[in-house]
Amino acid sequence: MKQYSNIIAERIEKISATLPQGVTLIAVSKYHPVEAVAAAYAAGQRHFGESKAQDLVKKHEALPEDIFWHFIGHLQSNKIKYIAPFIHLIHSIDSLRLLQEVNKQGAKVGRKIPCLLQIHIAQEETKFGFTPQECINMLAAGEWRALDNIEIRGLMCMASNTDDEQQIRAEFATVNKLFHTIKERFFAESEQFSVLSAGMSDDYPIAIEEGSNHVRVGSAIFAME
Ligand SMILES: *Cc1c(COP(=O)(O)O)cnc(C)c1O
Repeated sequence: MKQYSNIIAERIEKISATLPQGVTLIAVSKYHPVEAVAAAYAAGQRHFGESKAQDLVKKHEALPEDIFWHFIGHLQSNKIKYIAPFIHLIHSIDSLRLLQEVNKQGAKVGRKIPCLLQIHIAQEETKFGFTPQECINMLAAGEWRALDNIEIRGLMCMASNTDDEQQIRAEFATVNKLFHTIKERFFAESEQFSVLSAGMSDDYPIAIEEGSNHVRVGSAIFAME
């Protein structure tokens, strides 16, 4: 574990050093033990991402209070209540229905829960999210405006799983453009809409070049060699 801890710390430092100012590194610790998160924490990392509510709750209980926890996986309605009291940002809102459920749990714990709308941009059918048009339609319909216990902070996306860099770049650019369109049209009066969560281990440098300010990096930090 000692050696693995050192490797994690070195990777965190190396990646952090390359990020431009204003870009938040989220260390995606899913499938990795509490000890791995603790090693990253010791290296100064404070933002962590998990894709399962149960794992998130367990790690939240076992680790220091000043960690910012991000939920990045597919969120089931019946699991929201477990993370509602402390979650820093939910990246994976893919329906108005889910937003309403998060709002309900936010009201129960007296919080305004920060959320991102997930955009389906990749070629794979398997990925979740609104299409750009669905997202605009949902916002234009305006029902979300009545939800006092959520705050829409921005967009999240995953690029196609491909080696074609041009394809990946074009997908990130599309979401960046959508981000600005939505910001202008629905959030021009407020600062709240400011997060573009895009980029993972294999493509985060491209995502940053295309406007991302939150990168979700898992294997490049936690993979065992
Ligand atoms: C697993 C995961 C990541 C991190 O992926 P890596 O390729 O390991 O960096 C980022 N975002 C989401 C939504 C994920 O599920």
